Amino acid sequence: MIPLDSLFASPPTKKDRDAAFFSYTRSICPRCKKIIDAHIVLRDDKVWMQKKCPQHGPFEVEISSDAEYYTRSLSYTKPGTMPYRFATKVEHGCPEDCGLCEDHLQHTCSPILEINDVCDLTCPVCIVRNQQRYSMTMNEFKSSVDFLVARHVRLAPIR
Ligand code: SF4
Ligand SMILES: [Zn+2]
Repeated sequence: MIPLDSLFASPPTKKDRDAAFFSYTRSICPRCKKIIDAHIVLRDDKVWMQKKCPQHGPFEVEISSDAEYYTRSLSYTKPGTMPYRFATKVEHGCPEDCGLCEDHLQHTCSPILEINDVCDLTCPVCIVRNQQRYSMTMNEFKSSVDFLVARHVRLAPIR
């Protein structure tokens, strides 16, 4: 039986979460690199990515310090420019087919050639294999530039 007092008591107050959902995306677990779902949320005028690996638990990272700028910047869009040739087929889904694959929505705007991986910043979110023992040879460098030129033709100066 429902206690009579409870009928006249104030109903419990519902609480809001501390962040507003903005969009949905995919990311990777910073520990095992497994592809996982992620939410983009707005909190404290900033933008955050929140994700949860079934094995390693929740992670949160700030992706913009200015939520107003971030949301406004997304109002600008245009059709993507495709490369002359794609390098890989779509077989396993993003990001496994990187190349650029045929699903990529934009050509390569600013190629970065990592000529060695002598990096001592062991950032947990880095997807680069930072083993600190690889250095690109001149021939590898040349063939990488040839590869880019064949697909994008005009390259800005590389520094
Ligand atoms: S090329 Fe683009 S779409 Fe294709 S796997 Fe890489 S990031 Fe994803
Ligand atoms: Zn994980």
